[in-house]
Amino acid sequence: MNSTATNKPNSNGNRLIVRRIWPYLKRHKVKLLVGLAFLLINNYVAVRIPRHVGQAFEFLANAFRTQTEDLSVFYGELMWVLILALLSAVMLFSRRLLMITASRDMEYDFRNDVFAKLQNLSPSYFDRHPTGDLMSRATNDLDAIRDIMGPGIMYMADSLTVFPFALIAMTQYSLALTGLALIPIGLFAVIVRLVMGRIFFYSKARQDLLGEISADTQEFLSGVRVVKAYGQQENRLAQFKTINQRFVDANLSLARLRALLHPSIQMVILLGYALLLTFGGRLVFKDVIGLGELIAFLGIYRLLIWPVVGFGFVLSLWQRGAAAMARVEDIISARSDVTAPEAAADAGSPVRLTGPIEIRNLTFAYPGGDGPVLHDLSLTIPAGRSLGIIGPTGAGKSTLVSLIPHFYPVARDQIRIGGRDINDIPLNQLRHSIGYVPQETFLFSDSIRGNVAFSDPAHAERDARVEAATRISRLAADVEGFPQGLDTRLGERGINLSGGQKQRASIARAVFRDPEILILDDALSAVDTETEEQVLEQLSQFMDNRTTILISHRVSAVRLCDDIVVIHEGRVAEQGTHEDLLERNGLYTRIHQAQQLAREIEEENGSTDFTGN
Ligand code: ADP
Repeated sequence: MNSTATNKPNSNGNRLIVRRIWPYLKRHKVKLLVGLAFLLINNYVAVRIPRHVGQAFEFLANAFRTQTEDLSVFYGELMWVLILALLSAVMLFSRRLLMITASRDMEYDFRNDVFAKLQNLSPSYFDRHPTGDLMSRATNDLDAIRDIMGPGIMYMADSLTVFPFALIAMTQYSLALTGLALIPIGLFAVIVRLVMGRIFFYSKARQDLLGEISADTQEFLSGVRVVKAYGQQENRLAQFKTINQRFVDANLSLARLRALLHPSIQMVILLGYALLLTFGGRLVFKDVIGLGELIAFLGIYRLLIWPVVGFGFVLSLWQRGAAAMARVEDIISARSDVTAPEAAADAGSPVRLTGPIEIRNLTFAYPGGDGPVLHDLSLTIPAGRSLGIIGPTGAGKSTLVSLIPHFYPVARDQIRIGGRDINDIPLNQLRHSIGYVPQETFLFSDSIRGNVAFSDPAHAERDARVEAATRISRLAADVEGFPQGLDTRLGERGINLSGGQKQRASIARAVFRDPEILILDDALSAVDTETEEQVLEQLSQFMDNRTTILISHRVSAVRLCDDIVVIHEGRVAEQGTHEDLLERNGLYTRIHQAQQLAREIEEENGSTDFTGN
């Protein structure tokens, strides 16, 4: 990172920002336009105030000379000052309120849109983008864009209106003095340009480092057991200290720059006053302008200072926002690579899919992957039947079942469900019909009930269905032992459940959905064989007349399926019932024999199961 690169004007980025935030500006245009109108009035009034102060002084000076006793004009001017100050205050309050509310509303919409967009992207996008990176785009970068929508627009409008108002007012008093006033103003612009660029650079560095600190802390918290088990606390601490030191350094640099900025501005303001007083004083002395006019002029000069500083600030905000927008754009412009028709908007709850799952000559490669993972694979699962899938790790089993919910793009005519090409089935209809239990269990920080009823938390018979689902997945007995039963909350990622319990909760979630198609991707790997058998038996009753796909690395799990395929290197190596496959004496038989042997050794050693529960 270097400061020149970060501070380079980025016209593409600016165009992008304008294009992206334009719809949001349009949506909240009423608040923004009324706010802008108030801002105009406010700035116009602010420039009028010094004029009346000047006139009051002018009157006083004359009254002193001519010994006038009637001060009504003086009080009249003061009255104006008071009225205008009040009006200015009301306008300032209202425009801030309006514009800031509008910016928060825009931020709300924008954040929702980015989140919705993330939800609609296919899993392949997440394969390519690390979570931490996406999180920082969805938080830090969005904040930077919000800063443009709020302060960015407001201060820009402020600077752009005060400047001409003030400049016109000043030239009415004296062109020469106005020219002189531009010298300190120019100096401000130089200071702001020099210092603001660096302030921006260090603020950005600080934000990035803050992101790194939270990512590091989050990773440590997630992996605390691994860190401790491998005794790596010292190393982790050293790593953390390095980031923390850089964070402190950036903060100190920022503090130094800010410390420098304020006195420099102060000094230039005073130098400007000295300059204007020296020359303005001479003009008063020569009677070219009145004393009150000089005072009014100085009052307006003071109004010019903050718009210049504000403009520098706005420029930094825009630069930061442009960089952030480029990062968020990556999410906004991403297209899901899965093609499926949109469901009719008024369709209500989608009709469930029925019928066989037919896979024809399926060849599949992950988007951006190194070539096909599945090769010319054909398979039919009749409606209501069960298919067991077994095979070595990396054979493509998970890949195959992840294509049924259409997580990845599938070429036409390769997968049909109920006679329809998968590319013609709206995603919500397809997924509504499927209960999918992925290999990696994920539970939300919610109650067990909340996790099981995830697909329809407002279902009329939610509680009865949750209970049935936990019975079928054999979690009910465990839940009874929990302090608050089904309402027991799970810590982050369900830390208070064992691996086997988590898997069973995950199965209950799929059962709750009452799906036409149930996919279990090695979903019982952490459950002991006895419980596995019980779950499978319950499931086989529940899945009567529904289609089931069961991946397992254990023959004991797939043996009762109506049909079994052995997948090897992305191809169907063997297919048939348990008995058929044993007769073939191929890969399936070898897996079976190896597992039987392992079981016998275990039993001899007196241990029933070493996978634990
Ligand atoms: P199995 O379930 O049989 O163990 P997988 O379907 O998980 O096998 O993996 C099959 C192959 O696909 C492996 O070589 C694996 O590296 C690759 N693979 C799995 N997931 C992805 C992914 N998201 N992106 C790219 N390649 C993947």
